Amino acid sequence: MAAPVTPFDRAMSFMRSSFDRIKLLELEKKLLSTPQHILRHDISFERDDGKMMKVHGYRVQFNNARGPYKGGIRYHPAADIDEVKALAALMAVKTAVVNIPFGGAKGGIQIDPKILSSAELERLSRAYMKSIADDIGPDIDVPAPDVNTNPQIMAWMRDEYEKIKNVYAPDLITGKPLSYGGSLGRDKATARGGFFILEQLSKLEAINLREARVAIQGFGNAGSEIAMFLHDAGAQIVAVSDSHGGIYSKVGLDPIRIEKYKRKTGSVSGQYCEGSVCDLKRLKMDETEVISNEDLLTCDCDILIPAALDNVITEKNAKSVKAKIILELANGPVSPEADAILEKRGTIVVPDVLANAGGVTVSYFEWVQGRSGDQWTAEKVDRELRRIMLQSFDDVRSEAKRKNLTYREAAFDVAIGRIVEAMRVRGWTT
Ligand code: GLU
Repeated sequence: MAAPVTPFDRAMSFMRSSFDRIKLLELEKKLLSTPQHILRHDISFERDDGKMMKVHGYRVQFNNARGPYKGGIRYHPAADIDEVKALAALMAVKTAVVNIPFGGAKGGIQIDPKILSSAELERLSRAYMKSIADDIGPDIDVPAPDVNTNPQIMAWMRDEYEKIKNVYAPDLITGKPLSYGGSLGRDKATARGGFFILEQLSKLEAINLREARVAIQGFGNAGSEIAMFLHDAGAQIVAVSDSHGGIYSKVGLDPIRIEKYKRKTGSVSGQYCEGSVCDLKRLKMDETEVISNEDLLTCDCDILIPAALDNVITEKNAKSVKAKIILELANGPVSPEADAILEKRGTIVVPDVLANAGGVTVSYFEWVQGRSGDQWTAEKVDRELRRIMLQSFDDVRSEAKRKNLTYREAAFDVAIGRIVEAMRVRGWTT
């Protein structure tokens, strides 16, 4: 069989191996390999110079057997229909792994949002909402932020929907600002959920987190927050990177300082380098080296956290990964071929559908609060998130032990088992 080439091929490769293990009927396999709805729209919006710009927008509603479709919206040049389909399938698996009453969806606009002013971003976001408003809703499909989208964008979208439909809909969309129906703890939820899993995993594997050396690829929301949680827990952050490259220090980096410089200069190496010109004396004094994103993945560390792009650990570099544990905070960072290599080498991979599910879990809390009018305290959000993450990890770990599987295989089996069970009781498969 040829190697999987597109994001959807890669997602389906993980799904299919699970279909075979849990012995699904042909119809069930077919239903779980095909999105239920694909919405494609050409979105037109006005640029600041008065000219109209047209971009492709998508919403893929993959499966809603367990509840309303759920998943983020990303703005990215690579967000084509294939990628959005893959991410929608992974969302269906993710909501089932953490057992929250949602299905899976994903949205995308194929654009680099960095070229847009804030006013253009608002017009684009409102135009996108206009195009999907008839097909989503609090009981139908509940969007959220993803790559390059944020609470402000969610606020514009909710406002647009409420105007179009003439309704009050605090439960339409999650990841909103706190002042407009957001939940405490949503901003840090992805990192917090991943941290809870890492804490538990290190206990079970007799790894002392205080002695662990951690490398993090990506210093956006999830990457920078987990760096802070791990730093506070006493772990040593030895490497971080962003799209411009990264830094490594065997004596450990201070994520608070990196965050400060990243805000000031736009990159994690900004305290040492201006463009490609670096202050070698300062680097030497701090025992720090400038590294590439590729170097980061194979650097000397105990825990590797890909928190940026998909498909970064492939058959080309998997053999060189030195970490004992990989926590997938990004969606789809490890290819199926790399996954097989890592398994053979005994690397523990905590898959995306579990590792980064803290985000959608707190989205669920936000949706519950929006529907009930209740407001949870930060303590309650944290407590409930911890409970769900640990329960889900335990479910996956038990399945892995019982059937002698990797965590990824076990997570897919648990999730697909739950989705199929819902499809069967609903009478979809007979
Ligand atoms: N975009 C996030 C993810 O990939 C969150 C989705 C959500 O909250 O619905 O899990």
